[in-house]
Amino acid sequence: MLELTDMQVIRMLAKKHRFSFAKGLGQNFLIDPEVCPAIAEYGIPSPDCGVLEIGTGFGVLTQQLALKSEQVVAVELDRRLQPVLAETLADFDNISVVWQDIMKVDPAAFLQEHFGSRDVAVCANLPYYITSPILMHLLESGAKFRSITVMVQKEAAERLCAEIGSRQAGAVTAAVRLRGHAEQLFGVPRDSFYPAPKVDSAVIRITPFDTPLCTPEQLHSVLKTVRAGFAQRRKTAVNGLSSGLELPKEQVAAALAACGLDANVRFEQIGQDTLLALTEALGV
Ligand code: SAM
Repeated sequence: MLELTDMQVIRMLAKKHRFSFAKGLGQNFLIDPEVCPAIAEYGIPSPDCGVLEIGTGFGVLTQQLALKSEQVVAVELDRRLQPVLAETLADFDNISVVWQDIMKVDPAAFLQEHFGSRDVAVCANLPYYITSPILMHLLESGAKFRSITVMVQKEAAERLCAEIGSRQAGAVTAAVRLRGHAEQLFGVPRDSFYPAPKVDSAVIRITPFDTPLCTPEQLHSVLKTVRAGFAQRRKTAVNGLSSGLELPKEQVAAALAACGLDANVRFEQIGQDTLLALTEALGV
């Protein structure tokens, strides 16, 4: 197995396959030998649990995932990596790579097609330019995952694991909180990557609830409310929601009152338990 945390190996592969790192695709590859085994350890509950990886890079994490799980399916957008992976993953017969944009994949159909009835966990060092959209895409899809263990920028980790109603919270926080439990596992300094990004990172794990708090349709509606609310978080909820959802102020004020909320409440102060009720009262 090629040692993909060795800079000499990385340089050799890049030169041989004339590969240049695309900043625009978030190509910061892991070079700390301890991080990928740790992600695999936290992310894979048992060998029979399949793994969906998003973004293979040179395959440093893919290799570790395939040592722990019977089946790994990786989705990678950058086809220039094809000859590199043919070399780095050659020793494994339990990995398949699907050359696609993860945002264009229907997660539920993808799991059915590639894993059948097998449980599936997501493990990834996510491309930073698109972290929240990818997580929203997975969480909103209604696809069932055992867990989602991902590397994200430190600030994003804080946002994702925040409480709704706290200052760090955003729309993605609500998507996470309504679907499961989120925890920060460990921090990863910027020099653990090549090329090194400008900020530090952290690995988080989202474990979906066995019984979801809401249906995918309800989640979709709540997220409409939440996106409108957080888009104008400094405004009062009445003003923010009425312009974001294009509803009369009186209707929003009545919905807030029906949920026992003060007319001057700011959206970021509204707690998780009230979001569903408020969405229903708004008729979103
Ligand atoms: N897993 C590797 C590692 O840890 O070194 C690479 C991680 S790198 C941060 C992110 C990877 O995601 C890159 O290989 C990039 O080409 C890929 N990627 C970027 N956008 C993507 C998308 N929309 N769909 C699938 N893969 C994408």
